[in-house]
Amino acid sequence: MPSHFAFPNNDFLAYTLANPVACEPQVLSVNGCDLYLEDTGILRIEPSQPTKTSLVLSVGVHGNETGPIELINNMLKDILSGALALNIRLLVLIGNPVSANAGKRFIDINMNRLFSGAWKKFEGPEALRAKNLEQAIERFYAVNEQDNLRLHYDLHTAIRGSEYEKFAVYPYDHGAGYSIAQLRFLAASGLDAVLLSHQPTTTFSYYTNRVFGAHSFTVELGKVYPFGENDLSRFADIDSSLRQLMSMSTLPEGNASSVKVFSVEEALIKDAEDYVLNIGSDVKNFTGFDKDFCLAQSSLSKYTIKSDGDAIIFPNANVPIGQRTGLVVRPTTLESLSFLEDLG
Ligand SMILES: [Zn+2]
Repeated sequence: MPSHFAFPNNDFLAYTLANPVACEPQVLSVNGCDLYLEDTGILRIEPSQPTKTSLVLSVGVHGNETGPIELINNMLKDILSGALALNIRLLVLIGNPVSANAGKRFIDINMNRLFSGAWKKFEGPEALRAKNLEQAIERFYAVNEQDNLRLHYDLHTAIRGSEYEKFAVYPYDHGAGYSIAQLRFLAASGLDAVLLSHQPTTTFSYYTNRVFGAHSFTVELGKVYPFGENDLSRFADIDSSLRQLMSMSTLPEGNASSVKVFSVEEALIKDAEDYVLNIGSDVKNFTGFDKDFCLAQSSLSKYTIKSDGDAIIFPNANVPIGQRTGLVVRPTTLESLSFLEDLG
């Protein structure tokens, strides 16, 4: 079977968008790697040499976040053409091809709230897709149970601007500690900030971290643009760090202290219909406030800033009562964290 059978022009993205709901599973061999197209947008690549590193790259979990999809598609083209040597196991997931075709974040439900089995409580295309993605992850991590480095980077872009253009959300660690090697990798990837999550969630990265012990991150890489309008040079750092990881099977090391670290001070919850956030609709993520500023209020409650510099992230008051309207975050230091590795 010629290698161009699966994807004309080695274009996995075009093939996925042309087959958004399902496709025939295919197996083929390219440049010494075995490719398993397991379902639409679900591509596993096994390198010819044994490896202890298994990397999941997921993109387009929100369908309109096209920049990372194009970034990863270009890397795949280079793997398929032989321009980029692959020496780790790789699972590429284009999360929501139907909503990507529609140019929408999602069709029915925000898919990044449907993992860790949360999909069971819903119906519709995102619930089914979240189930399929979980099964793909399970198969991928089951192949090599001895692997000692499981990685998952879930790449996104945002509608809202950010004081820190590129940042990662570190899933809640349940007290286990953080990885300095991962923070160095994020620094090498050009990330400006890391937010330490404070509780279990139903996001994709929390799921792979909690269930499979992967080093997992939700990675925000800047602003949303439609297909074809992304300036991929803005992703140059993470492009080169991921390519180094794939070809050298080592995590590049940046200066971890260049990454600002934030912890969650408060999760704001909408408690009444008259709930408002006292900020403009265009306020950027990580905008900081002065102590005593009244950030949110309703007929039932009032939230005032506790400490100068506390900042808002992911603000959105347009949610049902009982749901999150944003996170108040506070700068912290690397020195205050406990790490998985012995730092000597
Ligand atoms: Zn997103």
